[in-house]
Amino acid sequence: MNELVLLGDEAVALGAIHAGVSGCFGYPGTPSTEILEYIIDTVEHSGGPVAQWCANEKTAYETALGVSFAGKRALVTMKHVGLNVAADPFMNSSLCQIKGGLVCVVADDPSMHSSQGEQDTRFYADFAMVPLFEPVNQQEAYEMMAEAFEVSEKWQVPVILRMVTRLSHSRAHITTVTAPRNENILEKGSPADWMLLPALARKNYAKMIDKQDDLVSWSNAWERNTLKLNPARKDLAIITSGLGRNYFDENLADYTAACGEKGLPSILHVAGMPLPLDKIRALADTAETILVIEEGMPFIEKQLRGLIPGKNRVTGKFTGELPRAGELNPDTVRAALGLPVKKTILDSVSVPELPARPPQLCKGCPHHDSYTSLNKAVEILNTKEGKVSTVVTADIGCYALGAVAPLKAIETIVCMGASIGMARGAAEAGYKYAFGVIGDSTFLHSGITGLVDAVSTKTPVTIIILDNSIVAMTGCQPTMLPSSQLEQIVLGVGVEKEHLRIVDAKPNLVEDNTKVILEEAEYRGVSVIIMVRECLEAARLRKKKEAIANG
Ligand code: SF4
Repeated sequence: MNELVLLGDEAVALGAIHAGVSGCFGYPGTPSTEILEYIIDTVEHSGGPVAQWCANEKTAYETALGVSFAGKRALVTMKHVGLNVAADPFMNSSLCQIKGGLVCVVADDPSMHSSQGEQDTRFYADFAMVPLFEPVNQQEAYEMMAEAFEVSEKWQVPVILRMVTRLSHSRAHITTVTAPRNENILEKGSPADWMLLPALARKNYAKMIDKQDDLVSWSNAWERNTLKLNPARKDLAIITSGLGRNYFDENLADYTAACGEKGLPSILHVAGMPLPLDKIRALADTAETILVIEEGMPFIEKQLRGLIPGKNRVTGKFTGELPRAGELNPDTVRAALGLPVKKTILDSVSVPELPARPPQLCKGCPHHDSYTSLNKAVEILNTKEGKVSTVVTADIGCYALGAVAPLKAIETIVCMGASIGMARGAAEAGYKYAFGVIGDSTFLHSGITGLVDAVSTKTPVTIIILDNSIVAMTGCQPTMLPSSQLEQIVLGVGVEKEHLRIVDAKPNLVEDNTKVILEEAEYRGVSVIIMVRECLEAARLRKKKEAIANG
């Protein structure tokens, strides 16, 4: 055994390594990034599985699927919205008879600390009818990885392990196993199990449906789904899940004092899916009302209404005992339990209202200069036309901070790669000057296909690729291809050579770059401007590495 202090993400990573994973793939996205970073770092220093960043979550999932088909254990990591990108292979893989264990770790971001949505991955697991594990702490995150691989192989299904921001990014002590598992088998899956031709897919779908009863039986027997009954308490029973359990436990001493040891409600902790129906029914038999304390959307609460229709009053996020949006915390759970608000030191001091401090680009960031050029061009164009004739769509990355003052340069941020399609849509709708702003990594992730569409329809748009040579926002992971290849890709898609402009995003070239933007904006076809300058943080890390390499 080994004692370590790890982030939740690192515990997942080490759990996968110790479970004998052979291939690990992912796309960076907060709060999941540290999982693959930890594995890549471990491999660099002491060897281990193949660990690679991929162009996007879909290609990462597909690569992991290939490892599984070859008979070895595979891990794929992403943030919650990344699963939207990987949804096609994910959903279809649930119909394949998984060979080597396949675990997809998805980190949800309730409260949207660094995300554009609050979606809850449990709905995807339910949609695909696959098991999902939900650790409450770092130790469980570590241990559940091995269990998830075993369940994946036993029932030949992909398994999701759901993390959330607070668990991914907090550190705790964990104990690891002594003997990591070695994965040496190389034995392909059967083609009939992996070719989703309609006739075969129908059979596989029937198999998947047949597995559901077994999976529910497993979930009923799974010792992590713990049920503690108190038939004496007839008014209330509680279900906890994920971090909801931690917040309940934080209030347990006060709650016990309030209820008395013998007056505590029956409680079921749900550690994963499918839901343990027998345990839920046993709980429902004890009390009139069930309070559900779960992190994320009211998934279990919603399921209960179908599983035990009309039998109990189900309370939680739909009924207002807990907030419908955002993360839970000890205080919100405390209020749901009917405990008085806890006094803190802040109640006895008066704290002046502090001014808001919205996030900003780093001082000297190349995006600032690019946006300054774009803002000048937009102003000139609108003045010339005598009305608002410009649209500036943008994308996900550091450059999304161009939305806030003082730049206020962009008008939309929807999802990875959307800027190009949206600029094209706005141009088709009638806006004369449509600009799509996208980073180099986001362009490779899912911008290329939007550009293909625009080229095919010859829609007058100007795409601005902000090339800072790194995936900056998530901590400077490498882009999949070097900047030098962007030009070839853009030309290969069909953008005309004279309308591909490559400029330096330097402060002394702001006026020159404004002129380039104005020239290309007038072109009534697809133009691309690549604005190049290395991210400051990436430059700092590069120089540090070079200094170490040079001794
Ligand atoms: S990390 Fe790099 S790209 Fe992001 S704001 Fe800072 S300098 Fe700009």
